[in-house]
Amino acid sequence: MHTPELPRLLLVEDDPVLGPLIAELLADDYDVHLAADGQKGLHLGLTEQWDAMVIDRGLPVMDGLELVAALRRKGVATPAIILTALGATADKIAGLDAGANDYMSKPFDAGELRARLRAMTRSFVPAASLVDVGGWLFDPANRSLRSPYGELVGLTAKESELLALLADSPEKVFTRGELLAGLCHPDDSQSVIDTYVHYLRKKVSKSLVRTVHGLGYQIGDGA
Ligand code: CA
Repeated sequence: MHTPELPRLLLVEDDPVLGPLIAELLADDYDVHLAADGQKGLHLGLTEQWDAMVIDRGLPVMDGLELVAALRRKGVATPAIILTALGATADKIAGLDAGANDYMSKPFDAGELRARLRAMTRSFVPAASLVDVGGWLFDPANRSLRSPYGELVGLTAKESELLALLADSPEKVFTRGELLAGLCHPDDSQSVIDTYVHYLRKKVSKSLVRTVHGLGYQIGDGA
């Protein structure tokens, strides 16, 4: 049953019995979507917003550790639990090192899985608060951008507000007037916007903000 008001949980489990069983166990608390292999899990993980992930370690096509590592490299910060049939400490360490927030050994207790999910999602920064701008991760709350290579760039309040406006409507071309109004400075000279754009490009990347001649600005691909 589709219940959009529940937190969305991505479950990646290839076992044809265990997958639907775990989905059912969690269905009261989460809107669970089940993917049966690592490739499908990666696709869903990258293309949709999730509140939590439960990922089996042993998966066809791409295993659970590769999957978590690939999601983290792409900036997906959604809390994830790795399920492993292997209880060895080395496997747990490998899971955590790959970017998982927690792990559970099979067979596990359903109540414990639910409790660990609750604990994990209680304190996390929602992935939605980080915005992917052409591979750069923009964190409006902390006014920072992280490059695809992990380098952190700090922004001023105005630069951050401007970038947030542009990134919030990636399809839209903003006039300078609209951007000024959005920054609550409708009376300032429109050249102020050009100055902020100049600084953003200088700090981050020339293609972070696209000039649309005769119209204004649009978020770019950041490349
Ligand atoms: Ca498996």
